[in-house]
Formats: sequence, structure tokens, C-alpha cells
Amino acid sequence: MEQTVEQKLKALWAWQSIQTQIDKIRQVRGELPIEVADLEDEIAGLDTRIEKIRNELDELEDSIVKRKNMIKDSQTAIKKYEAQLNEVKNNREYDAISKEIEIQGLEIQVCEKRIREAEFEIKNKTESYEATLKNVDFSKAELNGKKEELENITSETQKEEDQLMKGVEEAEKNIEDRLLKVTNKLRRSFRNGLAVVSIERDSCSGCHNKIPPQLQSEIRQRKKIIICEHCGRILVDEEIANEEA
Ligand SMILES: [Zn+2]
Repeated sequence: MEQTVEQKLKALWAWQSIQTQIDKIRQVRGELPIEVADLEDEIAGLDTRIEKIRNELDELEDSIVKRKNMIKDSQTAIKKYEAQLNEVKNNREYDAISKEIEIQGLEIQVCEKRIREAEFEIKNKTESYEATLKNVDFSKAELNGKKEELENITSETQKEEDQLMKGVEEAEKNIEDRLLKVTNKLRRSFRNGLAVVSIERDSCSGCHNKIPPQLQSEIRQRKKIIICEHCGRILVDEEIANEEA
């Protein structure tokens, strides 16, 4: 396959144009999978938090039941001691039993205080539990929206992308191997994936540096492949660029 430089430049431009279209499709899709993954992480974190608060609430409720039982036990003990008081034989016995009653009374007060504290904590934790539930609902709704968006974009663009990929393969048939290898390497070296660019307003449309008039006229002659002296991209003239567009 012996090509003129002009044919080579046109083939390169055609190839680059399709690659650019593919890049654009991938760019549109690009952020969404990351956003979906981030949301899934966030929801997993919130679910863990909800479970933790739920467990804490259960523990607090259990502790209240326990304290209430302790109060009942103390009340039973007090009744027993009060009955014994009626049958005391001496002052020492009376004092000892009175002391027990006093201790059980204190026990009850402590339990009541702990119950109030637990109830206060339950109130606070329930608020944060409900807020977290709301957050997770919100995030789940957002996630569903993003997933749907991603699916739509993927199904919409997949066909187009497949078509374009075929186009790239076709375009590559018109470029000799060595030139393709160099151009591909060049393309990968730029974040925007542009290896073949056109003259735009006397400048390289890849790096926006001015192209000297002499070089511009050489590019337009299409006698050899010329690269931008600033960024190293392959340059084509406006006419080639517009033919493809
Ligand atoms: Zn340049």
C-alpha cells in the first residue's frame, strides 16, 4: 500500500476523529460508575450505622427492664424487712433492719436515675436513628436515579460506541503499521487523547500555540507529515479537518 502523504494525513485525521467521538462518549459515562460506587459505599456505611444504633437502643431498653426488675426486687425486700421490723427483739436488730431498708431505698433511687438516663439516651438515639434512616432513604433514591441514568446512557451509547470501534478498525486499515504505532503512542501521551490536530486560527488546536506562517504553508502543501513544534502533535490543515467534519 503506497500512499501519498496527503492520503496518510487524511487517514490519520479520519482515525483521530472517530477516536475523539469514542472519547466523548466515554467521558459522558465516565463519572457515573464512580458516583454509583461512592453512593453504594455511603449506603453500606449508613446501614452499618443504623444497625449499630438499633443494637444500642435494644441494649438501653434491656437495661431499663433490668433496672425495673431490680426496683421490684428492692420493693419486695423492703416489704419483707418492714414486716421483720414488727418482730424485732432489740435495738441492734432494729437498726440493722432499718439500715437494710435504707440501702434498698438507695438502690431504688439509683435504678430510677439510671432509667431516666437511659430514657434520655433512647430519645437522643432515636432522633439520630430516624435521621440516619432518612439519609439512607435519600441516598438510595439517589443511587437508583444514578443507576438508571447509567443504564440509559450505557444502552444508548453502547451501540454507538461499538459502531465507532468498528470505524476505528476500518480507519486503521488505511494507516501503515509503523505510523499507526507512533500515532497511538502519541495519542496515549495526551490526556485529551488528541494526537492528530488541525490548524485553528493560525494555531495548533492541540496546544493553542501559534504556528509560524512558513510551517503553516508546509502543512497545507501536504508533502510531509509535520508535527507541532510545541506539543509534538501531528498537524493537518483546515481543509482536511473540515472534509471529515
Ligand atoms: Zn501543539
